[in-house]
Amino acid sequence: MEILVRFPLQEGGPLGRAREVVAGCPGYRVEGETASVKLNLPSEWRALYELSVLLRGEGRAEYAVDGRAVRGEELFAGLRCFFRKERAGSLAREWCTPRSLSERQLFPCRQIHVYDNPRRTPNSWYSFGRMGEDGVFRVDKEAITSRVVSDLGAYAHCPILDLDGIAETIARLPDDIDPSRDAGWSYRQEGGPVSNWGVTRDDAREETPEGESLFERLARNVRSGGAGVAAGGNSPSNRNVPAAGYGDVGGLGEAVERVREAVELPITHPEIFRRLGIKPHRGVLFHGPPGTGKTLLARAVAHECGAHFIAVSGPEILSRFWGQSEAKLRAIFAEARAKAPSIILFDEIDSFASAREAMSESFEATLVSQLLSLMDGLGEPGRVCVIATTNRPDALDPALRRPGRFDHEIEVGLPDEAGRRQIFEIHTRRMPTDPALDLDELSRLTRGYSGADIEALCREAALACMRRTVDLRSLERRIPPHRLDSLRVTTYDFRTAMKRVRPSVGR
Ligand code: ADP
Repeated sequence: MEILVRFPLQEGGPLGRAREVVAGCPGYRVEGETASVKLNLPSEWRALYELSVLLRGEGRAEYAVDGRAVRGEELFAGLRCFFRKERAGSLAREWCTPRSLSERQLFPCRQIHVYDNPRRTPNSWYSFGRMGEDGVFRVDKEAITSRVVSDLGAYAHCPILDLDGIAETIARLPDDIDPSRDAGWSYRQEGGPVSNWGVTRDDAREETPEGESLFERLARNVRSGGAGVAAGGNSPSNRNVPAAGYGDVGGLGEAVERVREAVELPITHPEIFRRLGIKPHRGVLFHGPPGTGKTLLARAVAHECGAHFIAVSGPEILSRFWGQSEAKLRAIFAEARAKAPSIILFDEIDSFASAREAMSESFEATLVSQLLSLMDGLGEPGRVCVIATTNRPDALDPALRRPGRFDHEIEVGLPDEAGRRQIFEIHTRRMPTDPALDLDELSRLTRGYSGADIEALCREAALACMRRTVDLRSLERRIPPHRLDSLRVTTYDFRTAMKRVRPSVGR
């Protein structure tokens, strides 16, 4: 953020002192009788802070933020909170997302008073909206946005405010809440017609007198593909259920079995766990070399049990301001709870959760504690499952692997010959292949190839086939159907491709 300040040159007095303050700044210029200075925030905050004191009430001073003129009073009112933080020497995570709000803050800024607040509905995001006659509560995101904008007011000028992150958080909130279907929500009757009702979120699980809990009802719905848990991202409540299923995962027979037990069953058949008196795993760690299908497997299990899927890449969560990464984490968990059953995937978790000794007091350490406390606070296990993937399980913070966290590990290794054959089948399914193409032979020849390598190999073979049959120099505008029909990917094309695509692991 660049702030331009212009003021009259004058000896002595506040204007003279203002000139002394900025005289050493790289962005300082004098034109005739006017001094001007360009200051970058947050780094050059101190000079701007001193100007804010010295130029107070100086009607001849002019200001612009990133080229847009603003009034001095508005600019400095908007920076008041930021200046206070800098003067106190606080980090964003202490100032913008203070510990006292950690249980409920949804946005990474203390000036915004819209919370994720399970117990008290006033000021929680789901107090914005209307109950429809059908008993479905429609969240009013526009109202949330205007409340956020009005809370921010001039603070929208804050140089460390992550407006995109805030917009993203609002977008992530569910559009509809149907307490008769979505576990964890109940009706709050205000008397009169349904349109006067509201919703409340209960963190404790609720049992209906007839014996079937909302959760069981939801699980039943999931199994029968019932309303509200339909596949595809465009269902009424905007759930994101991936399209790939177990049929798209090759050669991971044992891992798939273990994932079904650890992730799928708790979501679809909670009654088994209840009957046996055991708690499902809250977090599951997939480890193995890159490209072996860890992410694919997480998507597939979400598809199979109709779970809302949220993928977060480890590096992505490390944004510039720690406090804001923490608020993002919180928003992700809030979304997962609101749209349960859900699966949160932390891809490459080692990027921010490697052993804490190595990071001492760093941002990562705080993120890890935040992640752990969010996992501890998930309530009933099973409804929200957290999956993390890593290539380096030994580098992980040991605290992550304690009971109740990522206490279950599933190895996703390189495929064996039979596994590679299955993966070849999957990735050549939609390809016109020569009848003589011998997948057994290809599987034998591709020792050390991961699933991702085999996928790349199939693509490369198809390109080799294209190069062999289509002459780019004399390409007709439209290739006649009979020529398209005659395209066949052959063993020769795969052999050509293998010269280009080598196994990536251990390279
Ligand atoms: P990882 O998360 O282990 O690094 P990914 O799941 O991202 O690997 O794999 C990348 C792509 O490679 C997948 O989208 C898929 O197309 C292909 N792939 C990897 N493993 C398999 C597998 N076991 N079966 C089928 N396709 C696979």
